[in-house]
Amino acid sequence: MTTAATNLLGFDRAALEGYFEQAGEKPFRARILLRWLHRRGVTDFLAMTDLPARLRERLAEEAEARSPQVIDRHESADGTVKWAVGTDSGDVVETVLIPDGARATLCVSSQAGCALDCAFCATGKQGFNGNLAAAEIVGQVWLAERELAQRGAGSNLGQERALTNVVFMGMGEPLLNFDAATMAVRVLTDDLAYGLSKRRVTISTAGVAPRIRDLAGRVDCALAVSLHAPDDALRNELVPINRRYPIADLLDACRVWLAAQGPRRVVTMEYALLRGVNDSLAQAKALAKLLRGVRCKINLIPFNAFPGASFARPDDEAVQAFQASLLNAGYTVTLRTTRGDDIAAACGQLTGAVQDRTRRSARHAARNVIAGAMTGASGQALAMGAAS
Ligand code: SAH
Repeated sequence: MTTAATNLLGFDRAALEGYFEQAGEKPFRARILLRWLHRRGVTDFLAMTDLPARLRERLAEEAEARSPQVIDRHESADGTVKWAVGTDSGDVVETVLIPDGARATLCVSSQAGCALDCAFCATGKQGFNGNLAAAEIVGQVWLAERELAQRGAGSNLGQERALTNVVFMGMGEPLLNFDAATMAVRVLTDDLAYGLSKRRVTISTAGVAPRIRDLAGRVDCALAVSLHAPDDALRNELVPINRRYPIADLLDACRVWLAAQGPRRVVTMEYALLRGVNDSLAQAKALAKLLRGVRCKINLIPFNAFPGASFARPDDEAVQAFQASLLNAGYTVTLRTTRGDDIAAACGQLTGAVQDRTRRSARHAARNVIAGAMTGASGQALAMGAAS
């Protein structure tokens, strides 16, 4: 098959029906195709025995259902699996499977690299080379499901046989690849395909406010926002897109999104704890004040280090004190336990191999040389300087 053929792995129900209709085929056959592709994991059209032979042959000629190529695979001591998968653009992105008791969460990438350059994230340091196609996002889920299906009880994955959660927290900013990301969400939550609960598919954004407002009408899923700071001055440094969409705009967008959801839905506010930068009790209090009136829960992520990173993780007491302060203020606060650290699969550690179009990777390499030369107690100040 050539890469020029239409890759149907990324088509949601409506898109497949449209594709069939326009080809003069019966649209209801889209349902049969969805089941074969995603429920059974069969991508060979000729094997889809309850489709008419003529249609099977036509599909085999004109289309394809192609999952991404696995370039590399690592398994962590804690059961976390990280795949490096190739994209049609020649980049390599990463996908992480996190088994956890009865749950199995897949963390998918939505872009090759990331254009946003958040100060504490390894992906941003790599630069950016473009969007993944919907088929490349869905393909990551397809791959993980095949792995889970092949594992029986008694494996180090325990009893799990299927994914329960998918989070768009791998490489990239999903809301800057809006059409493909929302298309993928619809495939993931379609009962004929992966049938995941709409509350268990989460789009995570660094704060593309206008796209958060658009999300409500386009797709039904959970929303996480990478907040990381209680005020604009600090957030401008940590999450540079804040200069475009400041906190007030971002929280307004969250309220718009919430207004379109049922009363029980909340936004998850992610907050990476960086020692000496955003982890003080005063900042916990400021955060509590800031979020008053926004239906949310707060997910604290102690910083995960990566080579060249100039931030540090706070010690456990500081993390607990920060959490306690928010709990006292009445918030639901979860602490993300680090998984897959030994295979660089934790939040913010995903890099893959991206052909950088921004030359940011070269700039960061140069900075790290300078940072290395200036070692010492000024590490934190240096980190902030590098971010600005
Ligand atoms: N672009 C999206 C999704 C990718 S990041 C977003 O920004 O939400 C997924 C989460 O991991 C985000 O909350 C991100 O800020 C956080 N993260 C990034 N680097 C991290 C690091 N080194 N340690 C801990 N969390 C990190």
